[in-house]
Amino acid sequence: MIRPEFIIEELRKYMPDADFDMVWKAYAFAARCHKGQKRVSGEPYLSHPLEVAHILTQMKLGYISISVGLLHDTVEDGDTTIEDITDLFGEEASHLVGGVTKISLLKFSSKEEQQAENVRKMILAMSKDIRVILIKLADRIHNMRTLHYLKPAKQKSIARETLDIYAPLANRLGIGWIKTELENNVFKYLWPKEYYDIKKQVEAVEAKREKYLNEIVEKVDQTLKKEGLNVEVHGRPKHYYSIFSKMRRQGIGFDEVFDLMGVRIITNSKQECYTVLGLVHSMYKPIPGNLDDYIALPKANMYQSLHTTIVGPNGKPVEFQIRSQAMHLINEEGIAAHWRYKEGVSKEGKGDEQIVWLRRLLDWQKDVKDPREFLEFVKIDLFPDEVYVFTPQQEVKAFQRGATPIDFAYAIHTDLGDHCVGAKINGKLASLRQELKNGDIVEVLSSQNQHPSRDWLKFVKTSKARTKIGSFVRQAEKKRALALGREYLEKELAKLGVDVKQTMADNKLLPHAQAAGYMSLDSFFVALGLGKLKISHILAKLAPREMELAYKKKTTIASAIKKFISRPAKNAPSYGVRIQGMDDMLIRFAQCCNPVPGDDIRGFISRGRGLVVHSADCPNTLGLGADSDRSVDVEWDIKEKEKHLVMIAVKSRDKPGMLSRITGAIAEFESNITEATVRTNEDNTGSIYLTMEVYDLKQLQGLMNSIMKLPDVVSVERIKDRLAFKAANVSKKA
Ligand code: MN
Repeated sequence: MIRPEFIIEELRKYMPDADFDMVWKAYAFAARCHKGQKRVSGEPYLSHPLEVAHILTQMKLGYISISVGLLHDTVEDGDTTIEDITDLFGEEASHLVGGVTKISLLKFSSKEEQQAENVRKMILAMSKDIRVILIKLADRIHNMRTLHYLKPAKQKSIARETLDIYAPLANRLGIGWIKTELENNVFKYLWPKEYYDIKKQVEAVEAKREKYLNEIVEKVDQTLKKEGLNVEVHGRPKHYYSIFSKMRRQGIGFDEVFDLMGVRIITNSKQECYTVLGLVHSMYKPIPGNLDDYIALPKANMYQSLHTTIVGPNGKPVEFQIRSQAMHLINEEGIAAHWRYKEGVSKEGKGDEQIVWLRRLLDWQKDVKDPREFLEFVKIDLFPDEVYVFTPQQEVKAFQRGATPIDFAYAIHTDLGDHCVGAKINGKLASLRQELKNGDIVEVLSSQNQHPSRDWLKFVKTSKARTKIGSFVRQAEKKRALALGREYLEKELAKLGVDVKQTMADNKLLPHAQAAGYMSLDSFFVALGLGKLKISHILAKLAPREMELAYKKKTTIASAIKKFISRPAKNAPSYGVRIQGMDDMLIRFAQCCNPVPGDDIRGFISRGRGLVVHSADCPNTLGLGADSDRSVDVEWDIKEKEKHLVMIAVKSRDKPGMLSRITGAIAEFESNITEATVRTNEDNTGSIYLTMEVYDLKQLQGLMNSIMKLPDVVSVERIKDRLAFKAANVSKKA
């Protein structure tokens, strides 16, 4: 087992001013947490965090990361909580431990390429801090090194996950040595036969290969030295896994892999790379089409090098890689090289270089909105617009940020969305509105009795959910209007004393519907239900005699009533309100609450009168219930200004000239008073009730404010239920 002193010494070599006490404390804490625990190998568990910390020193990470390497399994395995870590080691360390633990607890199952990509993104999105991934990679490196202790099935699944998720992540972060080590280890477990085959064959030619390579290395070295170039030249073994994947990719045998041998030249500058390339080409013949200039065109993960394959002595091909020292560091250590030394000091480094790095690194990220966002390594949100969650089957799904369980349900299946009643997030019941977070496990609860509601449109994020809900709701509203229309016609006919069944027979009704411009009875009923078609016209056609009788009776009563109650002023034909999916509906404003543009409003489908728009808080709609079948979301859509009637009550001290001052103030706001009632109260105050026309809420509020500022005015109040108010006053008078 590695001793902690050794790790401290390694750390001291590159970071002499590190907080070594913290590392010691982390060691002592981990030792206590893992006391008595053993790895499958039989070794004390503590050996694992020590190895991980050691790998992190090889990556030359700072003391906080090293400490977290020691602590990384304490929360997952032991009785320790993340709060304990915060108390003992501070926020930064506890965030890192939390991040690593979260990833360790995730379970990934599906293996298809798109899935693997989503999983990689999820890990990046959850990490926020690149160090979390670096520590997780160190953890995986050690687990892969000790994989042979596990059962074969477990070996295979961990190896598979490493190949699908962690090796590509290492590659993406540009850490060449981790990618290579992970892949070579994976190879052994997933394709053991091929692995040992290739190993045997490589070993068989090894001695010959080495001798051959050494000759070339020596010759090239001498030539370059003679040219005054002080560069490193050495032979480079090919990795087993890269030989294997080449054989598989190109469908060739071991003997046909022609660049089994490689030479690497490390120069002092970019310029030297090209000079060296020219010299190598002058010594050996290059194979056409095998020159890659990754210096001029770096790979997405910032890899830079010149690659060329030449024909060596005896006609054997040899691959040359030529790069500068700086490039070599980046190629091997990737983002870790940039991360180095950053701990404990200001996070603002040499900004430009880091931005370029991250830009390239994150070519997943289509457009970086603000490069400054990436200046801070500590808090990077790699996918600010996306969120990754699990299905109960551990499949990872990507969504827009802000997506809800309903979006999730529709992404799984339309039917599931249409019947979704609730959701469990991470095993707990959650609201359908709850925003999904990275790593959430989402389970949808459904019921055949549940249907999409118009309300859902307010918070769903994905266009699939929006479209499906919209079409369901429109369909349902049409159905409702259809039933309403049919029922309405039946009732009115019954009131007239007509044989309903006979009159409503399809073949009798259809000609009338068509005469009114409707091709089918369905569309005819829908029009009646929505109030687009006047029922009196239809009744007059279906039962002319009965209608005439009824009309006579009605007008007599109406004229009798008229004497007592003045008719409310007629509202102009009212547009200016938009209803989703129903553009051509007949709209009227309720006479009770008289909403004006700016008020919160809600529509109610009323039998035969189309859509009536009330104030959202109108007391008359309470009985109807905002959730009832008839309720419809509407919003103002003002194109042209229109006048709306409103009523206000002004209370003032009873002074002469009060009314004229108030009406003067109203006139200044270009409002027209249609009715005014003045009442004197016993307490020496007066109440003035005014009905007037305004364009919108803003005008009304301005007007009320200016009345309020008048001397002797006590209160100004809007009367929302005008009809009830009038009725009350009428009955009082009577
Ligand atoms: Mn671990």
